[in-house]
Amino acid sequence: MSKQTLHFQAEVAQLLHLVTHSLYSNQEIFLRELVSNASDACDKLRFEALNNNALYEDAPNLEVRVAFDKDAKTLTITDNGIGMSAQEAIDHLGTIAKSGTKDFMSRLEADKKADAKEQGQLIGQFGVGFYSGFIVADKITVESRRAGVPAEEGVRWISGGTGDFEVEAITRAQRGTSVILHLRAEAEEYLNAWKLKSIINKYSDHISLPIVMEKEEWKEGENDQPGGMVKTGDWETVNKASALWTRPKKEVTDEQYAEFYKAISHDFEAPLTWSHNRVEGNTEYTQLLYIPAKAPFDLWNRDKKAGVKLYVKRVFIMDEAEALLPTYLRFVKGVIDSADLPLNVSRELLQESRDVRAIREGSTKRVLSMLEDLAKHDKHTAAEGADGVTDVVDADDKAKEGKYSKFYAEFGAVLKEGLGEDFGNKERIAKLLRFASTSSDTASVSLADYKARMKEGQDAIYYITADNLAAAKNSPQLEVFKKKGIEVLLMVDRVDEWALNYLQEFDGTPLQSVAKGAVDLGKLQDETEKKAAEEAAEAFKPVLAKLKEALKDKAEDVRVTMRLVDSPACLVVQDDGMSTQLARMLKQAGQ
Ligand code: ADP
Ligand code: MG
Repeated sequence: MSKQTLHFQAEVAQLLHLVTHSLYSNQEIFLRELVSNASDACDKLRFEALNNNALYEDAPNLEVRVAFDKDAKTLTITDNGIGMSAQEAIDHLGTIAKSGTKDFMSRLEADKKADAKEQGQLIGQFGVGFYSGFIVADKITVESRRAGVPAEEGVRWISGGTGDFEVEAITRAQRGTSVILHLRAEAEEYLNAWKLKSIINKYSDHISLPIVMEKEEWKEGENDQPGGMVKTGDWETVNKASALWTRPKKEVTDEQYAEFYKAISHDFEAPLTWSHNRVEGNTEYTQLLYIPAKAPFDLWNRDKKAGVKLYVKRVFIMDEAEALLPTYLRFVKGVIDSADLPLNVSRELLQESRDVRAIREGSTKRVLSMLEDLAKHDKHTAAEGADGVTDVVDADDKAKEGKYSKFYAEFGAVLKEGLGEDFGNKERIAKLLRFASTSSDTASVSLADYKARMKEGQDAIYYITADNLAAAKNSPQLEVFKKKGIEVLLMVDRVDEWALNYLQEFDGTPLQSVAKGAVDLGKLQDETEKKAAEEAAEAFKPVLAKLKEALKDKAEDVRVTMRLVDSPACLVVQDDGMSTQLARMLKQAGQ
């Protein structure tokens, strides 16, 4: 094939114009894109070689090389993957075949008003694949030979990133592809091993192939020449070449899990617990999810995004992928690595993806199971069977003791948001809740514990909401419950009032506020008490009428009550009314 000049597809030309004329906040993503293409090419070779081992030729070890030449001002990314034929180079590097990039283009069309800077940010977020090379290069040369074809069937593709590109046949002994970036003057900072390594570390560390660079060493200057780094001819792997979450669980130590958590969360404390799984089925992904031991200072901000990083086939895609977990689990940190999502998936596309919905459901369930497991082991020290023999507790269980209380103290209030946010898991969430009560000053009573302690004839779970524990405990509305020895849950988190709107019952038993309406103690009240109440109501009728008249602007009704023991009167709200606590909150908020 003699040299020919071809035109880019109109959309490519448009995209290139944009890439080269936009300011960009994270231009270094070009390396992520090119390394990921190199890695994809190796994956493709591996796949095709399954049926044709000869494709490996004499180089069975797949790797990606990153090299630079300070004098020529070039940066070269070479792989020994599948390679491209001339026609493939024309097709794949001259048109936009990828639907992701097409979406990106139409997004830009729709968003014409966006200034160059915003467009640049979009490019960074999406990644525009191969064309991101033109962010830093004013000319790109690609040399390639497809695996399994003769050396003479190589191809050279050259473009300055404007309207057209050249292709010609070359002889290339080595299988695979080299992408040679002729760096723009402003991009010469990339001719630096340290810089390149740090970018590789940031974005491509978890690529499972070795990414190798030529070793350099310091050489003293001679004959008045200054010293400098010189290449040694030895190559070293600069990434870990194996993503932690892709390794089998039993090959990863607890320390390694903890270190990885610290690296991704920027937390210096070890996590409370984690869960690492490969999920198979319609949507395949790996999840490595951590529960931190301490809440971050901005946990209360519901806009704070979940701490889950998204990888697609071990390539880092984005931090804080909020679509992967519901807001009430925003404290979870970790990694989800999907085999099904496109590499250039955007946050917007994530929201709409069916695979993402499946991942989100699976991950939510996984987090809830982790919490259930901690909760189950929380009180193991006191786990004495009816026969007085302590349960057999293995070391793993022991390590989980006390962790749920710790978790709950940090994140319990956030978890409650789930009652209103995640109807599908409402029951599981309700089981995980813990409250203080008239028999426990600490938030340690589960609804199930409460139910187990309910009095004969009691048919509701009673609770009171208040600003703090002292106010709750001293509320006159509790008097009759105290007298009768009925436990009442004390709800003092700001979110309780709201969350309880979504929890009308637990395991068939209604939840009832002791501050609402006429408390009907039902079967808990004996006949004499009922009779006394009726007689009192009759006897006090004239008084009540006067009080009603006097308070007519302030109170809707005045009733004789049996709920008080020591106090003469108390305020309650109508059954269907807003609770006093909620009314106070709204008032504070100026409503
Ligand atoms: P994507 O990787 O999402 O397909 P890119 O723009 O990054 O999109 O790459 C476009 C296409 O060019 C790839 O799909 C592939 O066919 C081809 N290509 C790019 N780099 C290489 C490479 N190093 N080896 C083989 N083919 C490549
Ligand atoms: Mg790509």
